[in-house]
Amino acid sequence: MLKLNDPALLRSQCYVDGSWIGEGVDAVDNPATGELLAKVPRFGANETTAAVEAASRAFKPWAKKSAKERSTILRKWFELIMANQEDLAQIMTAEQGKPLAEARGEVAYAASFVEFYAEEAKRIYGETIPSPFPNSRIIVQKQPVGVCAAITPWNFPAAMITRKCAPGLAAGCTFVVKPAPDTPLTALALVELAERAGFPKGVINVVTGDAAAIGGVMTSHPTVRFIGFTGSTPVGKLLMQQAASTVKKVGLELGGNAPFIVFDDADVDAAVQGAIAAKFRNMGQTCVCTNRLFVQEGIHDEFVAKFAGEVARMKVGNGVEVGVVQGPLINARAVEKVERHVADAVAGGAKVVTGGKRHALGRSFYEPTVLSGVTTKMLVTREETFGPVAPVYSFKNEDEVVALANDTPFGLAAYFYTRDLGRAFRVAEELEYGMVGINSAMLGTEVAPFGGVKESGLGREGSLHGIDEFVEMKYMLVGGL
Ligand code: ADP
Repeated sequence: MLKLNDPALLRSQCYVDGSWIGEGVDAVDNPATGELLAKVPRFGANETTAAVEAASRAFKPWAKKSAKERSTILRKWFELIMANQEDLAQIMTAEQGKPLAEARGEVAYAASFVEFYAEEAKRIYGETIPSPFPNSRIIVQKQPVGVCAAITPWNFPAAMITRKCAPGLAAGCTFVVKPAPDTPLTALALVELAERAGFPKGVINVVTGDAAAIGGVMTSHPTVRFIGFTGSTPVGKLLMQQAASTVKKVGLELGGNAPFIVFDDADVDAAVQGAIAAKFRNMGQTCVCTNRLFVQEGIHDEFVAKFAGEVARMKVGNGVEVGVVQGPLINARAVEKVERHVADAVAGGAKVVTGGKRHALGRSFYEPTVLSGVTTKMLVTREETFGPVAPVYSFKNEDEVVALANDTPFGLAAYFYTRDLGRAFRVAEELEYGMVGINSAMLGTEVAPFGGVKESGLGREGSLHGIDEFVEMKYMLVGGL
């Protein structure tokens, strides 16, 4: 059983218009043990419409508060999240599976967006433009877009919510959030803390249940003016299509197929450490996780030996146990995908250097795996594996590897290691990706714009640019002066 310092954080009802409502229907399980953690409501279109209406009623008063008032409440929410970091991490590991150290890290990362946008709330500046018309002024003011909806995934149950809500709340928007069915408890705990921080009723609402019905209302209700989504590309495309009928703003953080390139001139040990971090965080279940490793032929064998040695030493188990760095995958479907990708690679001639099968612990545990001799025809190249499998390719030169890296419809994160300054700039600029790590494998920070190009998404989250999604510019021409 989950032991929390504050058991009241374990909420299993939805939060709409300042009330906790709904009966527990859908089970939330611990992927490491199979234990039932809670049952959450199965809301549909009617309940979602009610949540949108609550957010709509709350919008004007929230938008009319001074920026400083909104900032103060956001700041309080940040402080409460950090004060309850351990409980939130315990809830997250229980429902999601990631090791406790990573869960604590995610809570701090999630909180950092709330802190950052509590500060930015006060800096949503407009502009004045020299007018071409006599006796007039041109003023541009930024106003909140209105009611926003957010649909979030299970891999970052806290951060994907705060990364969307914090900038929107700072700007004066109100929210209806639908967390992933695997990980609603972290979302509900966060909103419990939001309630304690003093957000007025209706400003943040959380609904769980029938994804298609909830998403249908979020994308068609005329009052919703922005829909933010993090998840798979097919669902992102569907939501974008649905949102077209009422011309909503959309923010999409979709799939990736991140290349990780190691050039002959790289610091091999640093590249190995970078590859471990970029590949195996959250058991390979992040959209910025390395999906393909390209290693130049001169250092290929040395890199593979060192990398596989590290991977083979990784401790797999329940994320709450000391020393565990790899937990279970989120569910049976996730393991089946990993198995399919590995079987396809092996059938095509790839070699299993380490791992390569389900872990002896059973359930959704999978051995951290390194494959070599991989080719670009295999599923591990073409699709996002979203699991602890590192396929390694050997390449000859820079032009070849840049072409290989760009040969995908996705464009979220890319990484490369080199000590040649000219190459660093050349390759970074050639890579068709929204984010590039150069001798660096951890991109996430609230101060930088996170997002992708091509089919990886639209818009940016984090940084001062993150506010842009949640404001409209109003141009005012003042004449007769
Ligand atoms: P994954 O396959 O990794 O779970 P999804 O894109 O299916 O990725 O899930 C991300 C989020 O999108 C989850 O909250 C999920 O419930 C939601 N979702 C899935 N299908 C739909 C849909 N048709 N409409 C709205 N939301 C959806």
